[in-house]
Amino acid sequence: MWVRWLHFRVLVAATVDELEQRKKYKSAYVFSIATLDVNHMNVPKEVRTYCPKCKVHQAHTISLYKPGKRRALAKGERHHEREKRGYGGQKYPLQHEFAKTTKKQTLRVKCKVCGYMRHKDGIRLRKLVIG
Ligand SMILES: [Zn+2]
Repeated sequence: MWVRWLHFRVLVAATVDELEQRKKYKSAYVFSIATLDVNHMNVPKEVRTYCPKCKVHQAHTISLYKPGKRRALAKGERHHEREKRGYGGQKYPLQHEFAKTTKKQTLRVKCKVCGYMRHKDGIRLRKLVIG
């Protein structure tokens, strides 16, 4: 199935049946995939899209966003540690059971000319392949 995401078309969950349907979807964009079970998505490494800084279309490189390492001496971390100390145990509820089995993947889009980087929020996927 083809979806329109990030101003380009991507092929999702390419099974044998869907590969046969490819010709049918060649010129059609699918906008809403909220009701479909999307497992797998291929994203190109490089894409030509609008750069808000250059104000024209430029070549962009795409990578997957990953949260950085938690710094133990950051203000929030110190605050949390202080909150959890002493009598009273856990101060806020911890979630143990999750309804969702997938996470939304965020893409980092970097302009090749000016280096301006921005994030694109993704959709729920089991697997995301860039390249
Ligand atoms: Zn740019």
